[in-house]
Amino acid sequence: MSDSYSWIDEALDAIHRANWYRSPKLLTGRAGAIMQLNGQLVINFASNDYLGLAGDERLIQAAIAATKEYGTGSTGSRLITGHRQLHRDLEQAIAHLKQTEDAIVFSSGYLANLGTIAALVGKRDLVLSDQYNHSSLRNGAILSGATLRDYAHCNVENVREILQHQRDRHRRCLILTDSIFSMDGDLCPLPQLLDLANEFDSMLLVDEAHATGVLGATGSGSVEHFGCTARPIIQIGTLSKALGSLGGYVAGSAPLIDFLRNRATSWIYTTGLSPADTAAALAAIRLIVQDRDSPKDGLTNRRETLWQNVNWFKQNFSDPLSAQLPSHSPIICLQVDRPFTVLQMGNTLLQQGLFVPAIRPPTVPTSRLRITIMATHQPTQLEQLVESLHKLFSSQ
Ligand code: PMP
Repeated sequence: MSDSYSWIDEALDAIHRANWYRSPKLLTGRAGAIMQLNGQLVINFASNDYLGLAGDERLIQAAIAATKEYGTGSTGSRLITGHRQLHRDLEQAIAHLKQTEDAIVFSSGYLANLGTIAALVGKRDLVLSDQYNHSSLRNGAILSGATLRDYAHCNVENVREILQHQRDRHRRCLILTDSIFSMDGDLCPLPQLLDLANEFDSMLLVDEAHATGVLGATGSGSVEHFGCTARPIIQIGTLSKALGSLGGYVAGSAPLIDFLRNRATSWIYTTGLSPADTAAALAAIRLIVQDRDSPKDGLTNRRETLWQNVNWFKQNFSDPLSAQLPSHSPIICLQVDRPFTVLQMGNTLLQQGLFVPAIRPPTVPTSRLRITIMATHQPTQLEQLVESLHKLFSSQ
């Protein structure tokens, strides 16, 4: 290639030199608590498939049936040829789960955040974003052209200070927060943020990516967990974690959803979700909702087992050297001083058949082992993890 592209080699070299180079890991076999990583059988403590639904036969059958009925692709954008009854069924099921007036599905959670934020605010507006928010929230704010102010992680006082100083200078204001923070596992102060949004005439958008199917009495998410279902919140989430499929959603008032259908460019100008993904997500939500409507079926047991597993791990793993970050979720992070050490620790666990990813800067401010617990982990698998971690930290 001509010299105009040589900077790419230099940039790659710089990434290598900084020890920031990453490459995808090859996992084989059906999604689940046990998989093969580069040919080695491992217990999977790295997945977002919290309820173990991505490999569930009922979702697989739903995806196959939808593919046979509709074909593999939805063939166009939702406003042209890509809209099926299946999409609407999924949107109504999400609204039912979330107890909102309506919902809209995007092709991914990332696109839901980009398109929604950029539709809600623009140059004359202010966005407040938690410093640890997911990249899709930050990039949505940047795309919108609004003034972006990061606030200290979960720090309600800092939000108040920024609002006091800056709210009046802007037309609209949008506060953005993850509900469960993806790289820390802690939970946002949702009721306090809602109070501030109300006091300062602002909108609040909460990203329920890691909370959907996990938190709340019926698995609806953090809004249900905090008893805030009736309050004005824009809820965003993904179909790709506990729901075991692919896609994103926004749930909220009917006018909000109608507005997004007309203004969210990452929804309008992209192909509708594939029939297989739509049907799998719908099957997952039906399993979760079924439980609320007829308590003997559904996923209460799976969600209960997930939380039993999480609590068992937290009670049984305690190592003063591990600097465990506060966690209110199946995401549990153990801080490790140096990026190189965390990589070595991840490799040692892998040699013992435990897949626990090492996450380093720049993805996160401090290096850590990030453990995710699933409902389908067996007690012996959790015991093995705890034993290995104790040995690993005591040898540091
Ligand atoms: N928000 C958060 C908090 C996430 O963790 C993720 C996925 N890592 C997303 C949004 C993006 O969702 P998706 O994978 O569906 O694009």
